[in-house]
Amino acid sequence: MKRILIVPILLVLLVGCVTTGPGGKKSLILIPTKTEVELGKEVVREVESTERVLTNTHVQNYVSTVGRKVARVCDRKDVTYTFKVLDSDEINAFACPGGFIYIYKGLMKKMDNEAQLAAVLAHEVGHIVARHSVKRLQAIYGYSIVMEVALGDKMGKTARQMVDAATGVILLGYGRENEYEADDYGILYAKKANYNPRGMVQVFQKFKEMEGRPPGTFEKLLMSHPPAGDRINNGNEEISKVGGTNLPYYESEYAAIKTLLE
Ligand SMILES: [Zn+2]
Repeated sequence: MKRILIVPILLVLLVGCVTTGPGGKKSLILIPTKTEVELGKEVVREVESTERVLTNTHVQNYVSTVGRKVARVCDRKDVTYTFKVLDSDEINAFACPGGFIYIYKGLMKKMDNEAQLAAVLAHEVGHIVARHSVKRLQAIYGYSIVMEVALGDKMGKTARQMVDAATGVILLGYGRENEYEADDYGILYAKKANYNPRGMVQVFQKFKEMEGRPPGTFEKLLMSHPPAGDRINNGNEEISKVGGTNLPYYESEYAAIKTLLE
């Protein structure tokens, strides 16, 4: 009888407080990394059953290389980060639980240097580091169900529902507070990876220009993210703290890749 109770408690002690941000920031995380990665793989299956992955391997390798540079300097090392370009003109990027990151071709076409790409990918890495999807699942499902899924080794009905919830959260965004957090981490990681962190603010400036128009593909991004003007202000403030405004943007490298995106 007792053993059943002891196992979850031990697991909480083991996985409990983990680093979820720069400066050794800690949060209470109940879902172990292994479970998060399994959930992530299910979400990936959902994503890749509806979206087409870009077939150009040169572009994919380039994005992976940039992504790995920012992942290397981030505060979470217990997952493998993967970066893929989706072949659609949607202007968006997102992170699945467990380190699986996607960017749409449409967003890449809007950008004009590698520092901007690095900033977007670093923002997504920030969501993984902060475990935003996991925190959201913990909040939705609560302790007991999360533990049940974490302890079970089969993808049962509850786990299935969590995958659906995780997919929903990803597609709708994580909410404003989490977006600002990911922006801040992204700026820091981009700078640490030797990119000019102003790339992040440049991307928001592009979003701001698009806000005025009535777009189809851009609406989703606007719903869940803070207004671009506020993100610009927050970003500039963060950049003044972390520095790095003398670092390069890598314009010609990016221009060469952009010609392959049509
Ligand atoms: Zn985000």
